[in-house]
Amino acid sequence: MEEKKFCSGIEDDRLHEECGVFGIYSYDGNEVASTIYYGLFALQHRGQESCGIAVCDTNAPKAKVDSYKGMGLVNEVFSSEALDKLKGNLGVGHVRYSTAGGSTRENAQPLVLHYIKGTLALAHNGNLINTPELREELARTGAIFQTTIDSEVVAYIIARERLKCGTVEEAIRLTMDKIKGAYSLIVMSPRKLVGARDPFGFKPLCIGKRDNEYIITSESCALDTVGAEFVRDVLPGEIVTIDKDGIHSDTSACLSGHKTGRCVFEYIYFARPDSVIDGISVYQSRLMAGKYLAIDHPVEADLVVGVPESGNAAALGYSMQSGIPYGTAFVKNSYVGRTFIKPGQKSRESSVRVKLNVLAEAVRGKRIIMIDDSIVRGTTSDRIITMLKEAGATEVHVRISSPPFLYECFFGTDVPERKQLIAYNHSIEEIRQILGADSLGYLELERLPQIAGGLSICMGCFTGTYPLNPPEEDIRGEFQE
Ligand code: SF4
Repeated sequence: MEEKKFCSGIEDDRLHEECGVFGIYSYDGNEVASTIYYGLFALQHRGQESCGIAVCDTNAPKAKVDSYKGMGLVNEVFSSEALDKLKGNLGVGHVRYSTAGGSTRENAQPLVLHYIKGTLALAHNGNLINTPELREELARTGAIFQTTIDSEVVAYIIARERLKCGTVEEAIRLTMDKIKGAYSLIVMSPRKLVGARDPFGFKPLCIGKRDNEYIITSESCALDTVGAEFVRDVLPGEIVTIDKDGIHSDTSACLSGHKTGRCVFEYIYFARPDSVIDGISVYQSRLMAGKYLAIDHPVEADLVVGVPESGNAAALGYSMQSGIPYGTAFVKNSYVGRTFIKPGQKSRESSVRVKLNVLAEAVRGKRIIMIDDSIVRGTTSDRIITMLKEAGATEVHVRISSPPFLYECFFGTDVPERKQLIAYNHSIEEIRQILGADSLGYLELERLPQIAGGLSICMGCFTGTYPLNPPEEDIRGEFQE
């Protein structure tokens, strides 16, 4: 049996997003595979375990789907030869990190499903909470699953609903009545590209335009990368269909605004700082978090530094608010992927040092305020503080741009079980002592809606109250055997 992914090794004490999606329809009949490839590059931070692209030609008499996927980073999986073989003006791509379902090639997406109405390709970001019931229901009526991921359940339900209704978007609408949880989906049928966002809007999804091409993708940074202009976000609960007649919208599944629950962690950590989600700049949001930390947890010091990358903007915000100079204390090795061989316990090398080194000249003899986005188990933070002190920092004051993690996430983020969370087991003062910090301050809970521009957000991993009731049992990783 595979080890459950959300209980991953202590060396990697960061949270991970599950996936990124990118779809495009070219009305001029241009090949789209290379644009998807570059779009996935821009979304690589959302998933580094596997990736894939599926394309089809809407002008061919009978549409067929070409697809290619594999384990690894986008540049590791796709060669120019592999891309050249993907012919079509309509396509969808996916990058994946697994929070449910194992890390295997079969579980890579897009999933391509051949059924009586033709072919569907599906790319999914998020996590469903009623997968066991849905999967059992499908299995009882003859479904044979090729993968262990909930996205296949979604694809099967869409295919079945499509047999009862006239269009794929109607089938997706009916499917949305059955599936519960977090999802931003892109579905490619032979003639259409359809994007759908769950009614709570947990995961981002937006629309872009480049000449005579429409794009649907997870983050606006992917639009910038391929030279497309941002059109708008897909609304929570909205289905957007792009076909030969243009772009159509179905908002019948949308909830009233205050019931929605965007994942606030997109702003704190997951999304790229150059993305704008639901009208709120991720960079501005992090800057604000830093400013609030300076207001709520001031301390005298000589230098404010961020733990790269997501701590940097918050550190700048702290500096702007406090007047304490902002500086760089860390050099990050950008070439270390998630899958590098981790040093053994007796080895003198450490994973943290392989990824991050301290600029001793910048910190020696100084009182440092170090800003990080979160503390999960605490196993990385203590090593970084030790590194700063070994490099000559006289004091290290830690400020965290999120509140303490106290609960699991069931909606696509690999927050580990509660008993592994340092804040569940210890008070803030105890955590400070464990980490060896001179002081410790977290972002106050009431600041979260403020950094998200007043949007209705999910704060479940901090409060235990989620936009919709979580499953009674922790079903993450349920189907890996
Ligand atoms: S529980 Fe936390 S990580 Fe999960 S969706 Fe809500 S805010 Fe995001």
